[in-house]
Amino acid sequence: MSDATSQSAVANEKGYSKKNPFPSTLKQRRLLNKVGSTKEVQHLEMCLAGSGLEYRPGDSLAIFPTNSDRQVDDVIEAGGLDTGALVESTRGASVPLGQALKHELDISGLTKSVLKKYNHFARSDKIDSLLAPENAAGLKGYLWGREVIDLLVDYPVPGLASDDFCGTLRKLSPRLYSIASSPLAHPGEMHLTIAVLRYHSHGRDREGVCSTYAAKRVEVGETMPVFLHHDKHFKLPADGSTPIIMVGPGTGIAPFRAFVEERAATGARGKSWLFFGDRNRDTDYLYGEEFERHIAEGKLTRIDLAFSRDQDDKVYVQHRMLEHAAELYAWLSDGAIFYVCGDASRMAGDVHEALITIAEREGGQSRESAEAWLKQLQDDRRYLRDVY
Ligand SMILES: Cc1cc2nc3c(=O)[nH]c(=O)nc-3n(C[C@H](O)[C@H](O)[C@H](O)COP(=O)(O)OP(=O)(O)OC[C@H]3O[C@@H](n4cnc5c(N)ncnc54)[C@H](O)[C@@H]3O)c2cc1C
Repeated sequence: MSDATSQSAVANEKGYSKKNPFPSTLKQRRLLNKVGSTKEVQHLEMCLAGSGLEYRPGDSLAIFPTNSDRQVDDVIEAGGLDTGALVESTRGASVPLGQALKHELDISGLTKSVLKKYNHFARSDKIDSLLAPENAAGLKGYLWGREVIDLLVDYPVPGLASDDFCGTLRKLSPRLYSIASSPLAHPGEMHLTIAVLRYHSHGRDREGVCSTYAAKRVEVGETMPVFLHHDKHFKLPADGSTPIIMVGPGTGIAPFRAFVEERAATGARGKSWLFFGDRNRDTDYLYGEEFERHIAEGKLTRIDLAFSRDQDDKVYVQHRMLEHAAELYAWLSDGAIFYVCGDASRMAGDVHEALITIAEREGGQSRESAEAWLKQLQDDRRYLRDVY
């Protein structure tokens, strides 16, 4: 994620804020992947009319999700809990357990603190040993790929009171999504690019709370509670003639669709270069038709694509950067701003490393001076990351 201090949730003159989220209507949703893809990424169009909310490309939208009925039912069953029992809501009122679990509490994310609180009732030696300071690796291993339901199944507490159980859980938190549209190109709307998270671990099919809520469970015409998150630094340069380089594989493409649309709408003359990557070109070239049109119309100067599964050797965006190292270094030397968005776990580090290699190779710099050069780019806010 980009520098936390550069991000802020904002309230507007109509009073919509994190505390008072705007009910944004889902106007449209379409699958971005083609038939045969191994992925599911949905494009969402949300209505902002009447909200007074104003965003700029580079900002994110936070969505307050609800848990699915299936997840709630599974947890209630696994814990032998009484769905109608009244529990204290996070707002202080009494609400039925089912409602608190659906709307207010995080019933998936398992953390050390949840384990600790739960063990107050479970009194399990095994949980004690997982929590022992010298057993950090054991704890990490247990938490990985497990959710609250696993705790209920692995360490049952007969007669667990609903209120006690709720007291062990964290509040359900909003999730952020990079805005994928320019307000100039789509007045009164905001677009998102959401990858539906599904995985299988420890014998269970699992799903992400918010990605399945926004991209699957909310119907077109229904509303979602949202608020805006401005990013002070991850934005287009004020001077439209400044060249920009954008690296956004997967859902990392979202803010760059907004950047390209914005520059097209303002008639910015600066050069722009996009690196995009995913699994297969035929099925996963997100917004491919749009980018090809922008290229044809000269609104995007160049695009380099890396589809990892289209050939035997895996090719990623950092490989394309290295293939075009001389030109990329020339753009940077000419004052281009370099943006990265998407996966923090591997991609962002690989791209960072590629930049160092490019400075060594093309700038004749030592590793040490290449690192210092990159640090200077960061300090000058010409190397900006929005990674998650
Ligand atoms: C600034 C910012 C911008 C973002 N922009 C976008 C965007 O444009 N598009 C987008 O799709 N997302 C974006 N995200 C990510 C998004 O906020 C959510 O994190 C994502 O949608 C998953 O949320 P969820 O509620 O569906 O999953 P959760 O219910 O939060 O589940 C996620 C958790 O599941 C576990 N998990 C996931 N995969 C596995 C696995 N294979 N094996 C075991 N455990 C696993 C991990 O513990 C992970 O933390 C952004 C995040 C940030 C911070």
